[in-house]
Amino acid sequence: MRVLKFGGSSLADAERFLRVADIAVNTHGQSQVALVLSAPAKVTNHLVALVEQTSRGMDASSTLFEINGIFSRLLAGLKAAYPALDDKALQARLTAELDQVERLMQGIRLLGLCPDNVQARILSRGENLSIAFMHELLRVRGLELDLIVPEQLLVTDGGYLEAHVDIEASRVRFAAKGLRSDCLYLMPGFTGGSDKGETVLLGRNGSDYSAAVLAACVDAECCEIWTDVEGCYNCDPRLVPDAYLLKTLSYKEAMELSYFGAKVLHPKTIAPVAQFHIPCLIKNSFNPQGPGTLIGVDQGEDDLKVKAISDLSGMCMFNVSGPGMKGMVGMAGRIFSAVSRAGVSIVLITQSSSEYSVSFCIHSYDSDKTRKVLEREFELEF
Ligand code: ADP
Ligand code: ASP
Ligand code: MG
Repeated sequence: MRVLKFGGSSLADAERFLRVADIAVNTHGQSQVALVLSAPAKVTNHLVALVEQTSRGMDASSTLFEINGIFSRLLAGLKAAYPALDDKALQARLTAELDQVERLMQGIRLLGLCPDNVQARILSRGENLSIAFMHELLRVRGLELDLIVPEQLLVTDGGYLEAHVDIEASRVRFAAKGLRSDCLYLMPGFTGGSDKGETVLLGRNGSDYSAAVLAACVDAECCEIWTDVEGCYNCDPRLVPDAYLLKTLSYKEAMELSYFGAKVLHPKTIAPVAQFHIPCLIKNSFNPQGPGTLIGVDQGEDDLKVKAISDLSGMCMFNVSGPGMKGMVGMAGRIFSAVSRAGVSIVLITQSSSEYSVSFCIHSYDSDKTRKVLEREFELEF
């Protein structure tokens, strides 16, 4: 089986949806396919805004209207291309999903906050609607289809918003279900199931990770991440116009790049495919003939000392320094223990050879509590 994941940028409108269906149909002619879909571009951002606005007591009806507009335009475009499409059923599904979101919004308004489990249910609506629309489109095109429901098959831990998939436990569930060989499977990205079978999210941009864990669970021959660029470039092509395409990357290189900001892959994507030695291909849904970037065990043919550069935004650097630090044993231990007590994850660490300073980077949203915990730890020295 080949797992094909399409991101929001490849599903932004009817024309792109139709292109994705073409790729799925063509690939299905060669080998069995499981499609993993994101929400159409902007939908998850709108859902996030809707939760924030409602939690703060603001009116979010225009945001809901925007989401409705994206799917209504999508429906009209698909119907125009395939008149046999059951648009009434899809319209009813869209209405039902948005009514449900409105009911949850009433609860948020009353509480003045949005519990994580409710947030997970709301934010996952985009992926669920993508699947409903693609299911109908492929049904009209004559394909035999079945669904993979992440709540039932992807076992997770780690809460409702940034869950981690337990691949071993999920593989047991997949083996028990037994997949058919005669149909194309569809799975919404971005979600998994709690121990009670509730919807949990795998973190923003998490559909890449969904595809990787699905590939690991079904021993896929390949995990393909289809996006809006030709593959992985040596730096962000939006920032650097003459960035060039990397033909191959090792798992380790791809992991480093994604952890350090290359948005083309969610950071958690590579570990599951590397563990099961599944090749991962990044492809452009606007140019299916392009070679893309192949991520695998091989170091590849690009014989470069520095293969790529990535960047992270929203970072903050702390610099702990002072003449008293020279030769003092245990300074680094105290700094990092204090930061870990605050529950803050450190992204990068450096120490000058003079030992006068230790610097480390954290996410900016953690800076206040980090400053407080360090001030407390070094109160005497200050
Ligand atoms: P999708 O909607 O398919 O999930 P994303 O927007 O999440 O797409 O990721 C694709 C984007 O990642 C590209 O449009 C590109 O701007 C950005 N990007 C950042 N760094 C890189 C890189 N090194 N190589 C390729 N794309 C990158
Ligand atoms: N739709 C989700 C997001 O925007 C997941 C994804 O696109 O990968 O974060
Ligand atoms: Mg993405």
